[in-house]
Amino acid sequence: MIQLEQLFKQDRSHFMHPSTHARDHASGALPGKIVTGAKGIRIEDHQGKSYIDAFAGLYCVNIGYGRTEVADAIYQQAKKLAYYHTYAGHATDTIIELSSRIIDWSPAGMKKVYYGMSGSDANETQIKIVWYYNNVLGRRNKKKIISRHRGYHGSGIMTGSLTGLPGFHQHFDLPIDCVKHTICPHWYRQAPAGMSETQFAAYCAEELEKLIAREGADTIAAFIAEPMMGTGGIITPPQGYWAAIQPVLKRHDILLISDEVVCGFGRLGSKMGAQHYGIQPDLITAAKGMTSAYAPLSAVIIGERVWDVIEKGSQEYGAMGHGWTYSGHPICAAAALANLDILERENIMQNAGEVGSYLNAQLHAAFDQHPLVGEVRGAGMLAALEFMAEGDKPFDAALKVGPQVAAAALERGVIARAMPHGDILGFAPPLITTRAEVDEIIGIVRQAVDEVANRVVTVAGRGIA
Ligand SMILES: *Cc1c(COP(=O)(O)O)cnc(C)c1O
Repeated sequence: MIQLEQLFKQDRSHFMHPSTHARDHASGALPGKIVTGAKGIRIEDHQGKSYIDAFAGLYCVNIGYGRTEVADAIYQQAKKLAYYHTYAGHATDTIIELSSRIIDWSPAGMKKVYYGMSGSDANETQIKIVWYYNNVLGRRNKKKIISRHRGYHGSGIMTGSLTGLPGFHQHFDLPIDCVKHTICPHWYRQAPAGMSETQFAAYCAEELEKLIAREGADTIAAFIAEPMMGTGGIITPPQGYWAAIQPVLKRHDILLISDEVVCGFGRLGSKMGAQHYGIQPDLITAAKGMTSAYAPLSAVIIGERVWDVIEKGSQEYGAMGHGWTYSGHPICAAAALANLDILERENIMQNAGEVGSYLNAQLHAAFDQHPLVGEVRGAGMLAALEFMAEGDKPFDAALKVGPQVAAAALERGVIARAMPHGDILGFAPPLITTRAEVDEIIGIVRQAVDEVANRVVTVAGRGIA
């Protein structure tokens, strides 16, 4: 075993971390954390300190940590057949079974499943499919993609462009030209004064309509959106949003891609976000919760209407020139099947719905009147607190109020995530979380929020009792 100190030194020297301040990490100003083990909803670090992971890793460890059934399934598959490719009609029994299971979890009208290793690569595939679809149909100009400000769809060239967060664009020359962003459907922060939630939903649809008119409907291929926004700040759509948006897309023959990477496989207490919000997508992206991150796997779920055109295209143009070496990897498929077995057998989706409602209700009870908190929002096992200064004004970003609260909670043993845009603390606990664990999380977070409120508000000249 390498000594801990040596390990941290090597980490600072040679390991490039994602989304990490390069200089602060290399210099040691950002203290690293080595995670050594985990069970249920708790992880343990190099100091032997235990934390409740109220973000399930990156909203992905939905069945919780340490389920040996998944480890066994991976082991069995690795012994039997660790790999074969899926090109030119090849398959393994695991990937065939998984495909049918995924269709069972999907809303009506879904037909085929293609596999990648990440949400980002799955969304890259989605856009290629959308372009292919319009080329086969002879609509060569219908190629632009609309996503939303603060949407999150990955960090590739295309998917980083679809992502509507400035931090993912700057110094990468993104977004690329064919991606257009429309309004973020956040009623609390984006609605013009005096507008009701349902009026705001209609307003979002009008904004979309205006963007389509400006660009020309015959140039727009698809609209991609999360049923409920995740990384952009855990933002619930306003009442009536999806009912207002979908007819606009239909009218202009624009495909709808539902990015279910967070919402899919039970997080909202429904099979996917589509069923929760009454969305009828043409294409669906899934990843995170599909394997509970026990192995990397993503899915591009293709609806009948798009699939028909792909089949037609193959008659004219041959096999589609698209594929990854690891598409449909059997070890990842085995992990996904074991994960789905656990989700179904233990009614974990139902738990997510029930305990998720409890989580949201208890957050409202604890924070609706809190002087540091502007909005409490969420659905299912997704929730957020947005911190605002007096008079419902945003804090100066330099104060780092969100990160301060996250750090204070971490200090007390709860991992919640300071979201990258605004002073927002996000919660996405494993779907197996119990009511008692919710109480524990909220008790600790309350102390953390109070501590930061005293610090920040004293600076701003008002204390809280
Ligand atoms: C995480 C995420 C992605 C990207 O998935 P990666 O596996 O990180 O590439 C895409 N869409 C949504 C909604 C996500 O939350």
